[in-house]
Amino acid sequence: MDQVNLNSRHLLDLSGRTVVVTGGNRGIGLGLARGVAMAGANVCVWARNDERSASAVTELHDLGVEASAVTCDVRYEESVTNAMELTVRKFGQIDALFANAGIIGRTYRFIEMPLSEWQEVLRTNLDGSFLCMREAARHMVIGGHRGALICVSSTAAIHGAARREQYAASKAALLALVRGLAVELGPAGIRCNALLPGWTESEIFASHRQSQSGEDSYQRLVQATTNRTPVRRWATASDFESVAAFLADPTISHHTGDTVVVDGGYTIF
Ligand code: NDP
Repeated sequence: MDQVNLNSRHLLDLSGRTVVVTGGNRGIGLGLARGVAMAGANVCVWARNDERSASAVTELHDLGVEASAVTCDVRYEESVTNAMELTVRKFGQIDALFANAGIIGRTYRFIEMPLSEWQEVLRTNLDGSFLCMREAARHMVIGGHRGALICVSSTAAIHGAARREQYAASKAALLALVRGLAVELGPAGIRCNALLPGWTESEIFASHRQSQSGEDSYQRLVQATTNRTPVRRWATASDFESVAAFLADPTISHHTGDTVVVDGGYTIF
């Protein structure tokens, strides 16, 4: 009897938990949101495009959980504090936050990269993650409850990302942020980990594809990177569903300060 119960229980059970996913209205963020919702968590999506967020919320509702969206631009402190206030008002306690919202920026030869490009990418990817992680940490520390904070970094943080050094630098800085937070917040029962996706099909490459000869160069990029990926394909958003539930699960309480790479083996090849 015990054996039957053991086999039929869900290993990852987030029922009754609330998870915030920034940039959760499409791409990897929506995959993360679906993953935690499939494990039973209620989800709040923070993003700028309300139409896309509404469609994501419908999809998440269909998984049988409470889902909601808040308009938020992670670059602005007031927008982030307001989003947290609205989320807490609706859901009460927040148990996990994925700082996923990010942009890739444009490709430049490094010697031609404008300071404005560097700053724009860091503002969304690094400052935005800082603001969201800080707000979630405040909520957990002041409320005196445990939780999980997850930064979506990138394998660009660990392989040489030529002509995208601004992007790589923003993502590498997140690894330092996560490690510092893991040490500082560990005693309070708040775990901090980084998720490093590898090449993943998403709209993040849309502007690259739309630029002159962009589609050709995009297809060459897909071919070259697929060839050197051991699993021989790019990821899709659904590849991040289970790992999202794992990273948010409070029972995995000894796992912190880690960098979880999901890249089909690209960075070990
Ligand atoms: P998408 O472009 O598909 O999604 C980006 C998401 O971020 C959207 O939901 C967008 O929503 C949101 N977003 C962007 N800027 C802001 C902002 N200022 N405020 C709030 N939300 C914002 O990209 P991906 O799904 O591919 O990327 C998600 C994360 O994964 C990013 O951090 C990216 O760097 C990282 N990543 C992606 C990889 C890939 O190959 N695709 C590889 C490694 C890491 P809205 O526009 O509505 O605000």
